[in-house]
Amino acid sequence: MKHSGLLLCSPGRGLSCVACCPPIRPAGYDHADHLGSLRRLLAENTRQLREQGPPTKPITGFWCPGLGYLDRQGRQAGCLLHPALNQGQDLRGPTGFQEKCARESCPPARAFAALGEAERAALLDLCEGMDSLSFGSPRLNPVMRLLAFGPEVAAAAAGLGRRRREELAAWLWLGETPPAWGWLLARRLETWGVKALARPDLAARLAGEAQALAQRLGPVPPMEQGEALHSLCNEWEARAWQQLSGRRRVRPTDLARWRALI
Ligand code: SF4
Repeated sequence: MKHSGLLLCSPGRGLSCVACCPPIRPAGYDHADHLGSLRRLLAENTRQLREQGPPTKPITGFWCPGLGYLDRQGRQAGCLLHPALNQGQDLRGPTGFQEKCARESCPPARAFAALGEAERAALLDLCEGMDSLSFGSPRLNPVMRLLAFGPEVAAAAAGLGRRRREELAAWLWLGETPPAWGWLLARRLETWGVKALARPDLAARLAGEAQALAQRLGPVPPMEQGEALHSLCNEWEARAWQQLSGRRRVRPTDLARWRALI
């Protein structure tokens, strides 16, 4: 978890995320499965930290003893060892995770950081009133699911104007479409129009496009050839091509051919 108003981890308005704390969560882990026990653990940790000071032993298992509540109401959770809460002193060292925590980032956080101020504000409006465990849960928070599609799709959704969280949650494609297709979706919205985001057939429509495009990219060569996709294009485009082609590397001439198919 990082602290700054521009960061999704701690964006202000009483919102915060601790979904990757400690940053060793298995793929697909969601706080939504453990809300009751996590709330008890957070309350217990907060009390212990106040009474006994910071932990002195490394983390074992999936729980970090530095996590607790930042408010009296028990809604906003965060890292009580973070320098932003300790007059600049970083107390995370003894957990053994200081370095990993400090560099941790996730696709929704990187997408959020790439948005303009008005777009960030529009998305945070939709999260009003959520506690940390709900805010950081992709299952409970459709804004987290949306941001996983990358900054272009998130910006397009934010630009659709004021909506309610329930409306966003009703967009079934947010749960049915691989987030890696976000860059392809952004390209298609250029012709379909951003209102396509609210259409019930979007998941099927995009799946048809992705399948047709994947067939035209050509077979995966027996040996990886070319340059790493991440060195030839941005994170979101690289992720889309990797998912569609099954390849991590590509020759620049092949990438140019792929782009021409879009
Ligand atoms: S899951 Fe992402 S947004 Fe949440 S604390 Fe980790 S890096 Fe921040």
